[in-house]
Amino acid sequence: MNERIERLREKLDEPFLVTEPANVRYLSGFQSTNAALFVEDGAVRLFADFRYAEAGRMVPGVEFVETKRNLLAELAELLSGRVAFEASALTYAGYETLAGGGVDLVPTRGLVEGLRAVKDEEELEAIRGAAAIGDAAFARLAEERFVGRTERELAWRMEQLLHEEGAHGLSFPVVVAAGPTGAAPHAKPGDRTIAPGETVVVDSGAVLDGYCSDCTRTFATGELPEELGRAYGVCLEAQLAGLRAVRAGVSGVDADAAARNVIEEAGFGDAFGHGLGHGIGLVVHEGPVLRRESTDVLEPGNVVSVEPGIYLSGLGGIRIEDLVIVSDDGAEVLTPFTKELVTVD
Ligand code: ZN
Ligand code: ZN
Repeated sequence: MNERIERLREKLDEPFLVTEPANVRYLSGFQSTNAALFVEDGAVRLFADFRYAEAGRMVPGVEFVETKRNLLAELAELLSGRVAFEASALTYAGYETLAGGGVDLVPTRGLVEGLRAVKDEEELEAIRGAAAIGDAAFARLAEERFVGRTERELAWRMEQLLHEEGAHGLSFPVVVAAGPTGAAPHAKPGDRTIAPGETVVVDSGAVLDGYCSDCTRTFATGELPEELGRAYGVCLEAQLAGLRAVRAGVSGVDADAAARNVIEEAGFGDAFGHGLGHGIGLVVHEGPVLRRESTDVLEPGNVVSVEPGIYLSGLGGIRIEDLVIVSDDGAEVLTPFTKELVTVD
């Protein structure tokens, strides 16, 4: 019996159509951009087109149904009565197609995402492995020359290192943001050549067996301007405070505040404009979230990032990000690469 589907069934009032690809994958192990899972009391049907049929027939515990390429048009004919659907995954056009076929659609929010937020042992192993790959890649990158290479070159190098260390893929394109580029939290690496005496933010993650890791370190290319050097120390202190705050039972708001207070008290409050962290799993941003508007409370088995940043316009950026497993005792850090300021050539 599929334990994930059993736990999902407990939350359902009517048959449930799952169309979010990561949720289909979580529940069935089946990976496709054009598939749907239909969970009823007695049966689970998996729908996908010819391209995925071979793999679909191998999925245990489901009845596979091959459909035309227009999956929802066929589902509109096959399904009837009340059907719960994922409000955040079904497009308006898809809704019209199903409703046009006479399906009585009932919106739901976050049902599978709620299950995904608490990882089982198999998932934790994959994430631990992905994080270890990222850590090994950081250790090798720190031995290389930064100054004189462009952000794009260094980002590509980090992607190579992640693959060499065994990544099956990347959580997202590697971010390398040097000097003033780093003042934007989601900077894209550009053609700017890395210069001496600046910070270089490197944010990257590996995918292993479908699961993502996520880690940021900030390097210095020689002696930093005084304000930037001071900001590094504050960011690290805030990151450590965030780590100490993370444990089961703590709210996303309180965990965020533990780090934010340190940054605010040091006078950099306006320079930390994003949340402290986010959940990670099959996708790189999922529940729970640690930020001021969060409604989440941490549970054992959550995997979250702890990543305060300080962004100083025109000068540079600093972000320090660890990936941790939440337990009743606190946070188990999966990304042990040093957080002391590493100076590179
Ligand atoms: Zn990151
Ligand atoms: Zn992150």
